[in-house]
Amino acid sequence: MPAAAPADRKPRSGPQRAMQKLGLVRDIDLALHLPLRYEDETRLVAIADTRDGDVAQIEGRVTDSRVEQRARRQLLVRVDDGSDVLLLRFLHFYPSHQKTLAPGARVRVRGEVRGGFAGREMVHPAFRAVREDTPLATALTPVYPASAQLPQAYLRKAIGAALVRAPLDEVLPAGTLPPGLPSLREALDHLHHPRPQTRLATLEDRSHPAWQRLAFDELLAQQLSQLQAQRARAALHAPALAARAGGRHEALLGALPFALTRAQRHACGEIAADLARAQPMHRLLQGDVGSGKTVVAALAALIAIDAGWQCALMAPTEILAEQHFGKLVGWLEPLGVQVAWLTGSHKGKARKAMLASLADGSAQLVVGTHAVIQEGVAFHRLGLAIVDEQHRFGVEQRLALRRKLARQGDAALEPHLLMMSATPIPRTLAMTYYADLDVSTIDELPPGRTPVATRLFAETRRAAVIERIRDEVARGRQAYWVCPLIEASEALDLQNATEAHAELQAALPDAEVGLLHGRMAAAEKAAVMARFAAGQTALLVATTVIEVGVDVPNASLMVIEHAERFGLSQLHQLRGRVGRGAVASTCVLLYTAPLGAAAKSRLKAMLETQDGFEIARRDLEIRGPGEFMGARQSGDALLRFADLAQDNALLLQARSAAPTLLERHPDAAARHIERWLASRAEFMKA
Ligand code: ADP
Ligand code: MG
Repeated sequence: MPAAAPADRKPRSGPQRAMQKLGLVRDIDLALHLPLRYEDETRLVAIADTRDGDVAQIEGRVTDSRVEQRARRQLLVRVDDGSDVLLLRFLHFYPSHQKTLAPGARVRVRGEVRGGFAGREMVHPAFRAVREDTPLATALTPVYPASAQLPQAYLRKAIGAALVRAPLDEVLPAGTLPPGLPSLREALDHLHHPRPQTRLATLEDRSHPAWQRLAFDELLAQQLSQLQAQRARAALHAPALAARAGGRHEALLGALPFALTRAQRHACGEIAADLARAQPMHRLLQGDVGSGKTVVAALAALIAIDAGWQCALMAPTEILAEQHFGKLVGWLEPLGVQVAWLTGSHKGKARKAMLASLADGSAQLVVGTHAVIQEGVAFHRLGLAIVDEQHRFGVEQRLALRRKLARQGDAALEPHLLMMSATPIPRTLAMTYYADLDVSTIDELPPGRTPVATRLFAETRRAAVIERIRDEVARGRQAYWVCPLIEASEALDLQNATEAHAELQAALPDAEVGLLHGRMAAAEKAAVMARFAAGQTALLVATTVIEVGVDVPNASLMVIEHAERFGLSQLHQLRGRVGRGAVASTCVLLYTAPLGAAAKSRLKAMLETQDGFEIARRDLEIRGPGEFMGARQSGDALLRFADLAQDNALLLQARSAAPTLLERHPDAAARHIERWLASRAEFMKA
């Protein structure tokens, strides 16, 4: 019997190495390695009762066996079970096949039935010699996710043995489980070896109570670990940054050319309340593109600065950081705030001076890319960190960010953390992966915006689209033309953008057409952007570098080339670059047929809605949570057993069970988390 190799011992055999690669190390890992599907070897079907397409097991006597040279050499075997005759066809075969399948032999055969010319047949079925009294399987046969080096038979044995040894005792106190769910041991026994009368459909669609038990346990573990993280955070200390009446945040409100929306005021209130507490804020500010998150961030920064602390604002790209910098300098310098600017491309003396001003506290606000929290950057007193477009961050990056931030300040005090995102978190995700996060939502746009009309054009109508740009430009408006990023080929990507630029400049000889792409130096990009923002450039051809945050209110047309290659959130973000002023704006999605199913649903969603929440919900549906959250790189499925689209009821039950369990049965809670999340606890705390 193969034993599971302990983590610290070198695996001895090929299959053991293959198991380790699949993460099947502890007995519990094997016990939780569930079948992909099952084969029913518990029943025999009469050949006469099988239909085309059935997967069936039959048993009979070989009446004929011969090798024939048809289109190619093949072994043809006839089996008679008294009801009818079945033809077995082997295109690859060995002498051992012929030996087992010799005329007169009694065989049990399993495979897919085809209604061929010459009656029913099976191509390459599984078969074995049996006697009259050879028993049938008593449980469905599991088929496991495996690999080439790991035969099913080996894995079945290993899992069978692990299932007996694994510590599967019930750790949850009575009353924790939703009614009707089996014990964990029963659930796993059943999933690995379902009894023959089980309806396979309930195993396959995971509605069987055994599956529900695993899903519940997993969701509960996740809720527990999130609660623990929340409590751990409540025990940390942060500077209490109370807003002063008459402070500079009020001065900024007075100086702005607009009044805050109700939703912005509400978000500001929640953030100010967090900042005033001596525990670190951990808040997500979500609001659709253009909903005005930046000014909320500026107000939060002023509160921190007035309280005598520094603030850092980080953006995912240099262009976006530069825009923020420009805006914040405009708003805050008149109020006497020293704003510094730091990105990875700052080198030499300027960088040294910048770092010195952060270290001695003379710079009160620093704006930049994530270079701001890289090694070698030290703050005098960092009180608040703001991260823009947080959705670009996978779970792991969030974790890394918190670790780095914790190292920045005073050892005893953590900075407050505000994350901003234009991609709202759908409710189910908010309740699971982000349960540890407080959320503020800006759910209205500033007044005076006109909705963006979205149009779908086939690539064959490119000329008409270019005509449209000409009209728009003639009326003094500006437009974007976005080329897709071509995966794995920055060179092609660049070539595409360059060609589109040449084509469009030729089509619009009187207008200035700009080009922006990822290979340009930061200063070059900034110069191109500045010309566009100032209205000198009429049309900006760009790769997705303009994706987030760019703000040019006079731009009224957005053309997205090969729109079918973009993700849904990305398309929505891009569309949000227009419709920022009072002019009616259009987003043209230029696509190249044929469209795949996912691309179709993305484009359809774009036509049907402009609501960022609805877009996020559909994006989640199309992509699934792993990809949605940017955790796909890690290769770690975030939930293995629960499916958020289906298991909402279980999620709610786990959510309500978690606090009681943690309070009244902390040991049970700890054991449950250990069993389910041992290696992933860090991840969940991000
Ligand atoms: P996002 O939420 O996408 O980051 P921004 O903060 O860039 O949005 O805001 C978009 C534009 O709306 C900016 O020009 C900003 O100055 C402006 N804005 C923000 N709040 C208001 C408001 N309450 N009324 C009018 N304009 C506003
Ligand atoms: Mg923004």
